[in-house]
Amino acid sequence: MKELTFHVKGSSAEPYEVIIIKDGDSLTALCSCPAGQHGNYCKHRIGILEGKSAGIVSDNKDSVPTAVGWLAGTDVEAALAEVREAEMHKDKAALATAKRRLARAMNS
Ligand SMILES: [Zn+2]
Repeated sequence: MKELTFHVKGSSAEPYEVIIIKDGDSLTALCSCPAGQHGNYCKHRIGILEGKSAGIVSDNKDSVPTAVGWLAGTDVEAALAEVREAEMHKDKAALATAKRRLARAMNS
């Protein structure tokens, strides 16, 4: 099992903690922000998984590509592709469903 922890500046004074865990074929991404704690979609995890280091205040920005590499072949990658597809078609109903699926994939 491999694990990376990033601190991401969000809307609160304290940075949020994003933990990304790779265990075999499974990728789990957790975030300490209110949405993340409720098991909902949040942009802090997605930003990192899309390779964006903006907002990261911990000194491991150079580990972002490692986290992106862990995505390959996971259910999180498939769910993320569905979100992008729904965004491209501006399909709000499909986007809401895809984001729920993505949140579930990241939490397990
Ligand atoms: Zn978050």
